[in-house]
Amino acid sequence: MTCPAPWTLEAEDACGARAGTLTLPRGTIRTPVFMPVGTKAAVRTVPPHMIPPTGTQIWLANTYHLSQRPGEDVVKKAGGLHKFMHTELPVLTDSGGFQVFSLDKKEVSEEGVKFTYEVDGKMTFLTSERSMQIQQDLGSDIAMVFDECLPFGADRAYAERSVARTTRWEKRSKLAHTRPDQALFGIVQGGFWGDLRKRSAEEIQEIGFDGYAIGGLSVGEGLGIMCDVLDQTTPHMSKQHARYLMGVGRPLDLVEGVARGVDMFDCVIATRHARSGTIYTSVGRIRLTDTRYQKDMYPIDTSCRCYTCSNFTRAYLHHLFKVDDPLSATLSTVHNLAFYARFMAEMRQSIVDGTFQTFRRRVAELYPENPSPKAVAGGGGKVGSKSHAVLGAGRGQPLPATPHPATSAAPPRGGKHAARPGPAASPDGERDLPTLDARGPSGPSRVGMLPATPHPAGSAAPARAGKPTARPAASPAGKPRGNGGGKRGR
Ligand SMILES: [Zn+2]
Repeated sequence: MTCPAPWTLEAEDACGARAGTLTLPRGTIRTPVFMPVGTKAAVRTVPPHMIPPTGTQIWLANTYHLSQRPGEDVVKKAGGLHKFMHTELPVLTDSGGFQVFSLDKKEVSEEGVKFTYEVDGKMTFLTSERSMQIQQDLGSDIAMVFDECLPFGADRAYAERSVARTTRWEKRSKLAHTRPDQALFGIVQGGFWGDLRKRSAEEIQEIGFDGYAIGGLSVGEGLGIMCDVLDQTTPHMSKQHARYLMGVGRPLDLVEGVARGVDMFDCVIATRHARSGTIYTSVGRIRLTDTRYQKDMYPIDTSCRCYTCSNFTRAYLHHLFKVDDPLSATLSTVHNLAFYARFMAEMRQSIVDGTFQTFRRRVAELYPENPSPKAVAGGGGKVGSKSHAVLGAGRGQPLPATPHPATSAAPPRGGKHAARPGPAASPDGERDLPTLDARGPSGPSRVGMLPATPHPAGSAAPARAGKPTARPAASPAGKPRGNGGGKRGR
């Protein structure tokens, strides 16, 4: 028996992009949604109380890692994941299937997978039943079935056997799942073969789950193949359930996934990239470690109202990275989470408003698959100007051109402020945000004395149990969240 996790459609674009709500015991999730990854029961470097204000609605933890350390018995004794890490945000746990199949040494049989734990070298055996037991002890809000993630380049014969075995494992997963307050999602596999995807989707939905995921992507196939596979998969998936694309999270991947009817995503890039200084902004991706930000007194993103952008300059973040202070990771991660939450909220609002295609085009301009200087330059503009406002496009209202409070408060520093051109592209598509001089105005000599206006993302916190949210899709400014860098793969 599983607890239903009803997903309700609110609006749909002609291409199939969907705005909806997923109701869980701990809150209502507005979809499409991005789930940041807290693999080992922590979104690295960020205290749990700082996560909801970013607009993050749900996050992901990992069964494989937590079963090794600290062990699900410890988490269960603490009262479950939420009490263990002191958060009420809903959490989804992966089944461990992807991590196990990423290991070099393993033996796959009908019963399950035998492998050696990385931590203690102990031989262990992961099965559908064992994965369900671990996830039920962890107490996540959404558990995932145990499946086989096909390796990149698997041949057709192996793929056919694997899909059939995954179906059997998912049946066993459902039988072993007994926790009534935990939803259980099935996973569609099938590699890059359209007919296998169709077969898997039909078989998994025949078993019957609370939602359905698409696994086996983000394994190095690239955007084109990912879109082809989605085009051959989502048409065969239930229209009445949430659809979750596992391990995918670059901005362009997200908007193209949503365009093909996907509602949920997760990826490590938002958090992993943040820790190395790669930041997602409303004008594209930047690297805070670049010397150009050494004396830059603007916030990371002048259109962002997150804790970091409300209180700190690019120069301070640059400094923290240069002296290798862990606060650099915390502040950068808080911003990237806020960016992704707002990005998804504004994408959702664009579906509601009927402007999703405009939003989609702007994302392709700002976060191109294969960035070229020409393509990037064409999507640029000064921070705060209408031309760069990819976020907000969904409402047909570019972000306000008025400077961010922190921006207007930024003091000119030093005696030399050579004017710079607008955002320029680096070879990898990262952009140079305009400096103080490029923006022109200078205000009072202070940064970080901002009015205590509530963060718009704060209202994005999920409703408590018994109080399903009835709020509209997003506040006018929307909200974001995310995960960056290397793809997690699934
Ligand atoms: Zn920010």
